[in-house]
Amino acid sequence: MAIHIKKDLNIDRFQLIFMEKVCIFCGQRPYNKTKEHVIPKWLIELTGSPKRYGFFGYYNEDKGPKEMHLSFNDFTFPACEKCNKTYSDLEAKTKPVILELLDEKPLDGKDINIILTWFDKVRIGLWLGSLYYNNILGINPNFYIDQGTFSRDRMVLIYKNKPIKKRLNFIGVYHAFQMHPICFTLIINNFAFTNVAKNLLLSENFGLAVLQEDIIFKRGGAGIIKKGSQKISYPLVDFNFEKNCTEFYQPNLSDYYSKQIFSMINDEHREKIFISKSSKIGNIFYHRDGSLIKYPTKKNRSWVPPSFDLPFLEFFRIIGMQSLQIQNHYFKKKSIIFDPKLSSEFKKQQQFALKYNNILLERLEKRDFEEFG
Ligand SMILES: [Zn+2]
Repeated sequence: MAIHIKKDLNIDRFQLIFMEKVCIFCGQRPYNKTKEHVIPKWLIELTGSPKRYGFFGYYNEDKGPKEMHLSFNDFTFPACEKCNKTYSDLEAKTKPVILELLDEKPLDGKDINIILTWFDKVRIGLWLGSLYYNNILGINPNFYIDQGTFSRDRMVLIYKNKPIKKRLNFIGVYHAFQMHPICFTLIINNFAFTNVAKNLLLSENFGLAVLQEDIIFKRGGAGIIKKGSQKISYPLVDFNFEKNCTEFYQPNLSDYYSKQIFSMINDEHREKIFISKSSKIGNIFYHRDGSLIKYPTKKNRSWVPPSFDLPFLEFFRIIGMQSLQIQNHYFKKKSIIFDPKLSSEFKKQQQFALKYNNILLERLEKRDFEEFG
């Protein structure tokens, strides 16, 4: 759980709540403030004119909600100079990997790891960016990019379509995502990446632990877990998805969960799943012929997914619907909230966010849509 609720929610009156100007990476008041592009400049340039506008949801007007269009280049968030430098190293490592990927070149496990880490950065960056510009639910984030990478299970589904003109879309960065930044999709030219990350997302079917119940507190949440089977079973996740893709999975544990889980599993299983005996970071696995195997450390092209042969909007529609359905799936899972006030606010937010997703799903279903970002 990623949120705590700042104030009473009045969903009849769209209320824009401005977030404090903190650093997108560390969450502290930025020292030597710089601007971080939530969507990196190299990616904006790779996919079209840097001056073009994107649709970034809705914002409040006295007369009601209004669409917000921002130039990609202006979609920025404050950051410390020091943090900005650290993460520009990640961008520098990511750019060549994404370029190789778009060219369907051989990739190794390290490359996939870079991609997954970068998706953590982009996903949390989009989440914080969307709250910074458009926080009508009054959500106060309780973690930032630093705390959101390498500490939870993550996966990416890579889809390929026939070659098309340059494109950049992100799908699913709406109110459900603002409440739980678990799943979003990024489309880069003819590839789509559905990224899902969450504590214990993969732990049950990696045989590590079974989540029995989620508990939500005012500042975050925790799950009650019991011992896992110590066997890997496929599928790893309990939502449906279009299988015409390459599936990458990496189990990662936070300090909180690793303490409990490592006391419940044997060394053999621990060594199979994690990169070393003492690590909380998992190996990169991918799905091949009905089972899960470690992705080879040598560069290879086995990652290249089969191709769709669809007009772009149809490809967008299928992958877009799937992203919203995955969000709804995790959104409806039962949680325990002891505080009655928190519980009723949470329910109101949830209803609003689900309603919004369902309206979009209906539009996609009926093919009554224009491309939205
Ligand atoms: Zn910082």
